Amino acid sequence: MVYSAFGHHQGVRLFKSIDMLADQGTGAAALAVDGPVPDAKANSPFGERLEDWRERLSETEWVPDLGRDIGSFTWLRGLATLGLLCGVAISALPDFGPIAGHEPAPLIGTQADYARSQMIAPLAYGSDTGMSMASTDAVRALSESPERPSIELVATLGRGDSLRRVLQRAGVAGAEARQVADMVAGTVKLGEIKPGTKIDVTLGRRPGKNQARPLDQLAFRARFDLNLEILRDGERLKLNRQPILVDDTPLRIKGVVGSSLYRSARAAGAPTEAVQKFLRVIGKQMSVSRDIRSTDEFDIILAYRRAETGEIEVGELIYAGIDRGGKPKAQMLKWNSGGRTNWFEASGVGQSRGELVRPTRGRTTSGYGMRRHPILRYKRMHSGLDFGGGYGAPIYAVTDGKVTYAGRKGGFGKFVKLKHSGGLASGYAHMSRIAVSNGRRVRKGQIIGYIGSTGLSTGPHLHYELYRNGRTINPRSVKFVERSELGGRELRRFKDELRRLKRVEPGAALGTLKSASKKPQSEREINRLNKALDS
Ligand SMILES: [Zn+2]
Repeated sequence: MVYSAFGHHQGVRLFKSIDMLADQGTGAAALAVDGPVPDAKANSPFGERLEDWRERLSETEWVPDLGRDIGSFTWLRGLATLGLLCGVAISALPDFGPIAGHEPAPLIGTQADYARSQMIAPLAYGSDTGMSMASTDAVRALSESPERPSIELVATLGRGDSLRRVLQRAGVAGAEARQVADMVAGTVKLGEIKPGTKIDVTLGRRPGKNQARPLDQLAFRARFDLNLEILRDGERLKLNRQPILVDDTPLRIKGVVGSSLYRSARAAGAPTEAVQKFLRVIGKQMSVSRDIRSTDEFDIILAYRRAETGEIEVGELIYAGIDRGGKPKAQMLKWNSGGRTNWFEASGVGQSRGELVRPTRGRTTSGYGMRRHPILRYKRMHSGLDFGGGYGAPIYAVTDGKVTYAGRKGGFGKFVKLKHSGGLASGYAHMSRIAVSNGRRVRKGQIIGYIGSTGLSTGPHLHYELYRNGRTINPRSVKFVERSELGGRELRRFKDELRRLKRVEPGAALGTLKSASKKPQSEREINRLNKALDS
């Protein structure tokens, strides 16, 4: 054994234990340590050997510092001790596996049948719950199964669905469904009924088994402010309109901007989309981060509708304002002018509609300025931008305008010219096909033609020109911003609407509904009795 072979070599020990030092010290020190007093037992040969062995064992350093004298015998022994102790500790770790419990014996035969008759299992798993019994002689078979006198069901109008189809799906006969749809169409436009509308349908008793059930009753909410009911009156169907009172006071939310406009507005109860829209609208008028102070007040007005039945419809943002010291710093009102909604300042000036869009997707191949003409071979002015993009690629109107020329024009080939507001116009040459006609209005980004190589052209490309007051200008120099302006009667109507909105008290839309409060309270029996006593 390795251990005993080295056991005698005291020289292997590099450190002396404190006990040893004490033993080798002076007699006074030895006395102080109070060394073992030899007894009779120690004198016997076995006792002597035991004593000697115990002494050696106690002198051995079992837990040396493993960071020092790496590789020495003491170190190795220390490592072995550590390994041994770790091994013991790890072997004593409990097992984390599941603990086996009592397992009942599986049910078989009759026992299993009884147990199954009492269990409830999903039908999808093939449940055959319950005991079945054979019928006795007392059971008489029915000649035909009885039918329910009426069926009540709820049909839902889907997206792209029609009222007639919904009713037919619910079991209403085709002719009757058509009749109902015609009756409803006389009151509301069928396309205006919202998808997802629930229709309560009651079908009556049918005269025969192979006939459809007649419609007895039908009710649904046709509009936010209208309930429709169709009732059977003998042979005929009768339509009942039940208008629902709706309060459309807009929802106004005001508050101090504080550290974050977004958070303050959200905390004041404005919906997320409304705050985002507000920031976009205001952001076009001023820098939200630089120009708005924390002491400013935000003013948000949303379209809002409440029905007396309790439903709420939160609409879009209609007014966005920033007030400073009680005076408006920015006020923007949404306004529909000429079929297009835009945001207008309180003065009636519209918000900028942004810059020009690229006339085609391809990249610029030639810029504006003096150059040698590729066909005519002499230096002349190139009065526009050339775009590549390939034959047949679409060409877009750079902004809203009116077509003032559409057709062949000399070296320009097939050419379109658009007139825009602010004395600006744009021209598109060498088209393969023109997609607009003279006099037509075009919108920004609308396709007006396709790239070609008509006229004086070396290959398919778009020659694009921009004019100001009739003269060509470098299209790249223009960062033009279009602003619409309201005038005359429209401006008056705009200002009236703005005044009306600003008169709305914040939170006015959240008060009790006027119509609901007008309703007479149903009198309780106890009050009626008291009244009789009073009189
Ligand atoms: Zn060109």
